[in-house]
Amino acid sequence: MDIKKYVKEIREKLGEKDNGQTEYLQAIDEFLPSMEAFLAKNPEFAEANILELLIEPERVIQFRVPWQDDQGNWRVNRGYRIQYNSAIGPYKGGLRFHPSVNLSVLKFLAFEQIFKNSLTGLPIGGGKGGSDFDPKGKSDGEVMRFCQSFMTELHKHIGPNTDVPAGDIGVGAREIGYLYGTYKRIRNYDAGVLTGKPLTYWGSQTRTEATGYGAVYFVRHLLNDLNDSFEGKKVVVSGSGNVSIYAMEKAAELGATVLTCSDSNGFVYDPDGIDVALVKEIKEKKRERISKYVETRKNAVYHDGQSVWDLKEAYDIALPCATQNELNKEQAAILVENGVKIVAEGANMPCTLDAVHVFAENNVLYCPGKAANAGGVAVSALEMSQNSERLSWSFEKVDGMLDDIMKNIFEICRDTAKEYGQENNFVLGANVAGFERVAEAMLSQGLV
Ligand code: NDP
Repeated sequence: MDIKKYVKEIREKLGEKDNGQTEYLQAIDEFLPSMEAFLAKNPEFAEANILELLIEPERVIQFRVPWQDDQGNWRVNRGYRIQYNSAIGPYKGGLRFHPSVNLSVLKFLAFEQIFKNSLTGLPIGGGKGGSDFDPKGKSDGEVMRFCQSFMTELHKHIGPNTDVPAGDIGVGAREIGYLYGTYKRIRNYDAGVLTGKPLTYWGSQTRTEATGYGAVYFVRHLLNDLNDSFEGKKVVVSGSGNVSIYAMEKAAELGATVLTCSDSNGFVYDPDGIDVALVKEIKEKKRERISKYVETRKNAVYHDGQSVWDLKEAYDIALPCATQNELNKEQAAILVENGVKIVAEGANMPCTLDAVHVFAENNVLYCPGKAANAGGVAVSALEMSQNSERLSWSFEKVDGMLDDIMKNIFEICRDTAKEYGQENNFVLGANVAGFERVAEAMLSQGLV
């Protein structure tokens, strides 16, 4: 069988069917070269046409979300849930509320989620959902009414053993609370239906910190392999949401100086090291803009309308933690000039494909999101376990398990890349190792 031709034909068909779904096709284009290498070595998976089957989502749900604003006007948004692949467990993946949400964005996120979840070694399939609703600038009452309406439809499609959503951009503890409350009223209670719940009702210790901490643990294991550590390193972070805050917190705790953080309006540069407690106060408590940060930090500078990735300063590690395609080819070249050694994605697909090529050409160690940010979903799966056994584990226990999981993910990516003769190609490592487990499960279940 001509593997190159087989993979190319799958891509061409997809390009015709999903023409215009830019982010989705970008995620596919990042994935397919790894599949060529894998299928050349394991042709039985190509004979069974597993790749084409896996690329087709099992189910795509789209629905209307009507809600009333504070003035009494009826408004409408679109809701979605992509149930992409359930071969190794119930669909699992966050909900995103952001005006940029559409089918393409959610399909890319759900597709990546399949392999991320597989890499954790836990029994969770891939899914994602959300809405083009923008919680920014809305009152608490408006957010609550929107969440209630969203769940009034979504509850028909989810459940603790079938599909378990969590948070993502624009969906934090407040939104999860409203969504959970609505599910409980309609279905008469089922604790395990959502993860990322507050600690007062069935939430897991470390879930809030998990994605950011996990990304830093991944890098720590990589540094450890190089006989190095975070101690004394300069780290640049984008975003100032859930992932960014806890990535900054853990990197600083391990001895690094974090120089930046940002939001969609601009970025802050603080040569004394970002004061994470202050960022929490501004973003988590007050829901204000990051520009507020410089009001109380005398050496910090706010760059309005600029990206962190335009910064020209020396640093060692970059952690893009905001959103997809935030770092392009030109900016990747700036990072190389700045002397960056490691780029690890806290966000999903924050680097464009061209940017990733620039890193590869310049021997920058690039850690893709599906491996580096898997800590969030891993602790979500641990939350599901705790909910099932009606127990709550300590912070230390869950944090320790998170660290072990990130170590395993790092090692499996490293070893798989080596096995294919492509040392340090963590993209190939993550794609191949993630795919293999799912493909084997599909084959053994007779899904061909
Ligand atoms: P939050 O909503 O908590 O924070 C998002 C941050 O990114 C905010 O600072 C936001 O700024 C900024 N941002 C969003 N869109 C843009 C944009 N278009 N341009 C510049 N900045 C932007 O989300 P999370 O921290 O939860 O998620 C961040 C990333 O991490 C996403 O890619 C998500 O998919 C990924 N991720 C999250 C996980 C989790 O557990 N939360 C798990 C794994 C991955 P502003 O306030 O101005 O919008």
